[in-house]
Amino acid sequence: MNSHEAWQRAKQCFPGGVNSPVRAFRSVGMDPIFIKSAYGCYITDIEGNKYVDYVGSWGPMILGHANEEVIEAVKKAAENSLSFGAPTLGETELAELIKTAFPHMERMRFVSSGTEATMSAIRIARGFTNKPYIIKIDGGYHGHSDSLLVSAGSGVATFAIPGCPGIPDSIAANTLVVPFGNSEAIKQCFEKYENKIACIIVEPVCGNMGVVLPTKEYLNDLRKYCTDNGSILIFDEVMTGFRACFGGVGQLYGITPDMTCLGKIVGGGMPLAVYGGKQEIMQFVAPDGPVYQAGTLSGNPVAVAAGLTTLKIIKRDKNFYKNLEKKSSQIIKAMSETASNYNFDVVCNSCLSMFTMFFQSEEVNNYDDAKKSNTEIYAKFFRGMIKEGIYIAPSQFEANFVSIKHDDQAIEKTQAALNKVFSSL
Ligand code: PLP
Repeated sequence: MNSHEAWQRAKQCFPGGVNSPVRAFRSVGMDPIFIKSAYGCYITDIEGNKYVDYVGSWGPMILGHANEEVIEAVKKAAENSLSFGAPTLGETELAELIKTAFPHMERMRFVSSGTEATMSAIRIARGFTNKPYIIKIDGGYHGHSDSLLVSAGSGVATFAIPGCPGIPDSIAANTLVVPFGNSEAIKQCFEKYENKIACIIVEPVCGNMGVVLPTKEYLNDLRKYCTDNGSILIFDEVMTGFRACFGGVGQLYGITPDMTCLGKIVGGGMPLAVYGGKQEIMQFVAPDGPVYQAGTLSGNPVAVAAGLTTLKIIKRDKNFYKNLEKKSSQIIKAMSETASNYNFDVVCNSCLSMFTMFFQSEEVNNYDDAKKSNTEIYAKFFRGMIKEGIYIAPSQFEANFVSIKHDDQAIEKTQAALNKVFSSL
């Protein structure tokens, strides 16, 4: 069966034939590719085509696919049963390791997806502050819970969905949306909704409008407005956590939030995410406090084994992030230099091992800037790269990810593909 046939069959089961919208490849004008397996930095479809993978399951696969030690740990955990619905030692071990990287996460709670982590974090923030409003960033994506789908990035941006039917106005009205990087807009929210703002939730480095970087001053301002107004600063590091250092990008900018959400890498490719923060806030979570949040599969032992082993492998290699940075900068350089050799205007934004090449000439500092990119050329570029065996994000408004397994051979293959595709665009 080829991918096209597999998709026709899947469409009889799933909306768009997929279980998450961007997988349908609609914005890049292609049938989706059905995957059979992946190893290292390569992913193979059901027709046997092999691609250099820059999607990395949307971020978790920082060690590359099917790392032997991780797979072994998963197998070993699975032999002891797949789920207990009761506490295990592994959960505490993983939490202790996360604490070494995020000391302000004095208490945390494991959940099964980034969506649950952010949704729960804002519930706790509201419960703790007893305030109704939240501030989010235009084009920021924090999963698909009702309050956070307002003006969201990622797939919502890819399909240009203006507002999402199914979310009552009364819920959307509690979410205040501001452009990334604009401190004045934050100030105005705090003035207009004095004493009513529970939290700001922000990706400190945005990944879901494509990669967009903050200034230290901006993150500092967010910190200050929250502190001054008794509001909670939530860093959503579901994508960036452990991506650029053994910790969060918040640390790279020297800013400590009150709460942090993690996902992707902490689960090593399995469904696991985390939210946590200072004890005085987290003591509001049931059973210690009144804010309810629970999960049948939360802290699942197989997912914990994958996450714990992934983090241990990263931590024991003192040169891990240095090596990852070296590979990433080679790839990012190849992308932007090849584009300019062929006279294409591109802006390449990156944060160590995550990057986006925007097809436009001006700086991209927020979602409005990102939207000026030429998505038609991006779609052509994507299709060309796929043909040459390079699997990049199937949307202009997503990040690409480099893993520690991207070797010289993969980088050379990427360079050859770039030459061929840009020369033919
Ligand atoms: N937060 C951020 C920053 C994300 O990038 C994502 C997903 O891409 C989420 C939250 C939602 O995570 P999940 O897809 O695991 O629900």
